[in-house]
Amino acid sequence: MTIIHYDIAAVVITVLSIFVYFRKKEASKLQNKIFLATLFSCLLAGIGAIGGFYTANGRPGLSFVPVVFTSLYMFAHNLTPLLFTAYIMVLIGINKKHKKKFFFIFFAPAILSLLLILTSPFSKLIFYYTSSVYNRGPLMPVLYSVAVLYFLLDFYYIIRYHSIIPNSTEAVFVTFIFSALISVVVQMLFPSMLIELFVQSVVLLFILLTIENNGEIYNGTTHVYNRRTFLLENLKSIEGNLTYQIILLKILNIRYFTKMFGFRFIQEVLQDIASYLCTLAGKDVVYDCENGNFALILYRDMQVKSGDIVDSLYRKFSHEWISHDISLTFEAQICRIMVPRDANSLENLINLIDTNDFKTENRISIIQEEQLRYMQRKAAIETAIEKALRENTLKVYFQPIYDCEKNKITSAEALVRLIDEDLGFVSPDEFIPIAEKNGTITAIGQFVFEEACHIFSREKLKEIGIEFIDVNLSTVQCMHKNLAEIFKNTLEHYGLTSKTINLEITESAAINSQETFQQTMKDLRGMNFSFSLDDYGTGYSNATYIFNMDFSVIKIDKSILWEAEKRESARIILRNTIRMIKEMNLKIVVEGIETKEQKELVVSLGCDYCQGYYFCKPVPKEQFIEFTKKFNFPS
Ligand code: C2E
Ligand code: CA
Ligand code: CA
Repeated sequence: MTIIHYDIAAVVITVLSIFVYFRKKEASKLQNKIFLATLFSCLLAGIGAIGGFYTANGRPGLSFVPVVFTSLYMFAHNLTPLLFTAYIMVLIGINKKHKKKFFFIFFAPAILSLLLILTSPFSKLIFYYTSSVYNRGPLMPVLYSVAVLYFLLDFYYIIRYHSIIPNSTEAVFVTFIFSALISVVVQMLFPSMLIELFVQSVVLLFILLTIENNGEIYNGTTHVYNRRTFLLENLKSIEGNLTYQIILLKILNIRYFTKMFGFRFIQEVLQDIASYLCTLAGKDVVYDCENGNFALILYRDMQVKSGDIVDSLYRKFSHEWISHDISLTFEAQICRIMVPRDANSLENLINLIDTNDFKTENRISIIQEEQLRYMQRKAAIETAIEKALRENTLKVYFQPIYDCEKNKITSAEALVRLIDEDLGFVSPDEFIPIAEKNGTITAIGQFVFEEACHIFSREKLKEIGIEFIDVNLSTVQCMHKNLAEIFKNTLEHYGLTSKTINLEITESAAINSQETFQQTMKDLRGMNFSFSLDDYGTGYSNATYIFNMDFSVIKIDKSILWEAEKRESARIILRNTIRMIKEMNLKIVVEGIETKEQKELVVSLGCDYCQGYYFCKPVPKEQFIEFTKKFNFPS
C-alpha cells in the first residue's frame, strides 16, 4: 500500500513556504525567482502525486485522469534538479560567465526528460497504467540518470567555488543534496514510502529561512542594493574571473548638503537619485555604496550601454538637482571601471569607491583611465610596502658624503629601498608619499633608523672615517608623541649616542607649526640630535624663520645645482645662497653632484660637503664600506 501522507505534508509545507516568500517585500533577483520556481515545482509535484493516488481507481471512463496527474507529478518533480543547479549557479554568479552555447547543453538533458514524460501517455516509455495500476516504463532509468547528472554538476560547482560560497550556504546545499540522495535511495528500496517530496519541501523551507532570508541586502533608505551586497557581488564575480563594468557615481558634497538641509531631506534626495539610476539602468544593477556613492554593475550585454549611461549621468548632473523646490548643485565624479583591467581585487574596488584622491577641476567630471591606473598603482605599492614590512624585505642603502676640506668621506645618507617581487624596484620618491599617507612611514622610518644604528655599531665605521649617518625623518613620524623615546631606546640598545645619527627634515616639514610636531622636535633636540635641512631651495619659505630653527647643516637641493649649470641667473642664486648660509655659520651640503665640473663649481663657491653619483650612488652596506675604505685609505 502506498503511503500518501508524506506528499500531503509536502504540499502543506510548500504552500506555507510560498506564503512566507510573498510576504517578503524585496525579491527581484534572479536568484529569488528561481527559488520561487522551485517552490512551485515542488507544489505541483505534490498535487500531481496526490491527485494520481486518489484517482488511480476511478471510474473506467475517466482513466486519463490519473495519467494527467502522474504526468504533472513527473514533470514538476523532474524539473527540480535543473532548477536547483540553476539556483546554485546564480548564487555563485557563474551564470554570467557562461556563454549561450553552454546553456543549450545545460538545458538539453532536462528537456529530454520532460519530453519523455510528456509523451509517455502515448509512448509508455516512462510510465503507463494497466487497469488502474501504475507501471514503470523501460526508459525510467533515463530520468534518474539525468537527475544524477545535475547532482554531479552541483557537486562540481560547490567544490570548485568553495572559496566564494559562504559556509552557511554551503552547509544548506550539502544538506539538500544528501537528503535528496538519501530519499531517492529510500524510495527505491521501499517504493511505498513516498518521502522524496516531503524531504524536498522541508529543505526548501530551510533555504527560505536561511539563504533567501537576506533582508539585509537592500539599503534601508534608497531601497536599492546596499554596500554589502555590492561587495559580495563583486567578490563573486572577481573570483569567478568575470569581465564586467562598474559605473561609479560619487557625489562629493553630499555631507555639506546634509549639514545644510538636514538628514531627512537629503535622504529623500538620495532616494530620488537611486530611483533615477533605476530608471536609467534597471533596478537590479543599482547599488548604494553609502556616503553619496552609487554604483551600477553591468554584465554581458549591458556593457555596450555603459557609454550612454555615463553620458546620461553627465548630462543629468551637469544641471542642478531640484527636490521640493530646492535646487542642489552637486559636485560629482563619474567613473567607468572595467573589471579586472582597472581593479582586479575587491580591495582595489573598495579603494576606488572610498577614495577622495581623484583630482578633478570641474564640478562634474568623468574620471579618466590614467587616474584609475594611478589608483591601481598606488594600491599595488601599498600592498608591496605592507608585504615588505611583514616579510622584512626592505633594504637600506648608503650614499657616501664627501668632506671638501678633509678630502675624505666622513658621513653617509641612509636611503630606504623597496624591491618588490611583482613591481620590481619602486623609487622612494613614489612610495614614501604613499607611506606617509597610510601611516606605514612610521615603521619604515624606524626600520631605517635601526639599520643605521646597526651598521654603526657592528661595522666600526669610526675606524674608517665615518663620523655619523644621516637619516631622513618624515613629518608624519614627528607627529608621534613618543618618537624621541623610541629613538632613545634604540640608541641605548645599540650602545650609541645621538651624535652618531644626524636627522634630515625637509624644508616643507620644518615649517610645520603643529604642536605635537614642535614638541617632538624639541624632545629630539633635547636629546642632542643634530639636524640637517633637506631639499633647501625647493620650498618658498621665509629664510629667517628657517634659520632660526637651529639646523647645523643645510642641504641644497640638486635641482638648484643643475639649474646653476645651465643658466647664469641660477648660478647667481646658488652663489648667494651658499654665501648667505656660510654667513650664518651653518655647514652646507650640495647634493646631486654628478660630474667633476659640478664638484669643482660647488667647492669653488665654498660648499662644505658633497653628495652625488660623481662620488658614489647609494649602495648596500658592504659596498659602502668597501668604497669608503678605498677612498679614505688609498693604498
Ligand atoms: P632625498 O632625501 O633628497 O635623498 C637624496 C636623493 O637624491 C636620493 O634619492 C639619492 O639617490 C638621490 N641622489 C643623490 N645623488 C644623486 C645624483 O648625483 N644624481 C641623481 N640623479 N640623484 C642623486 P632616492 O634614494 O631615490 O630617495 C628619494 C627621496 O625619498 C629622498 O630624497 C627622501 O626624500 C625620500 N627617502 C628616501 N629614503 C627615505 C627614508 O628612509 N625616510 C624618509 N622619510 N624618506 C626617505
Ligand atoms: Ca635626505
Ligand atoms: Ca635632498
